[in-house]
Amino acid sequence: MMNRVISLPDESATLALGARLAQACQGGVVFWLYGDLGAGKTTFSRGFVQALGHKGTVKSPTYTLVEPYALEKLTVYHFDLYRLADPEELEFMGIRDYFDRNAICLVEWPQQGAGVLPNPDVEIHLLYQAQGREARLTAVSQAGESLLSRLAV
Ligand code: ADP
Ligand code: MG
Repeated sequence: MMNRVISLPDESATLALGARLAQACQGGVVFWLYGDLGAGKTTFSRGFVQALGHKGTVKSPTYTLVEPYALEKLTVYHFDLYRLADPEELEFMGIRDYFDRNAICLVEWPQQGAGVLPNPDVEIHLLYQAQGREARLTAVSQAGESLLSRLAV
């Protein structure tokens, strides 16, 4: 498995990492975003969708669970499962439909959807540091491996 550890000294570095990964995507990819509250999962997601042309704000869809961004070339679905009471709720949402399309999915709090959520291509752990954050990227599929290998060093 391919791993990368990236130091994120400030918010702009988190936004830039999201943008770099967005630019490296070719077609549908699933990202699982782990990290404590405030670790930067939504900041990363904002950098990601804005790099693909979204002009407006990007907030965690804490109450709606998912926010779609219909962009020029593809759709990004940004999930926040923090308030998901039961993974079975995802079945009622028709979760498979989001992942079956040629779409990119960014999932905050994926552990809340355990057993129901489709498998990811890349897992990202965002960790608090004394100053700033650290991102640990792990490719967990072939598509994820080639995506991380396309990232500029
Ligand atoms: P989460 O979605 O993980 O709960 P948010 O992205 O909503 O976190 O909030 C992260 C907070 O930390 C924001 O206030 C943001 O400005 C800040 N932040 C993001 N990345 C960094 C970084 N690399 N260093 C310091 N602060 C950061
Ligand atoms: Mg968030």
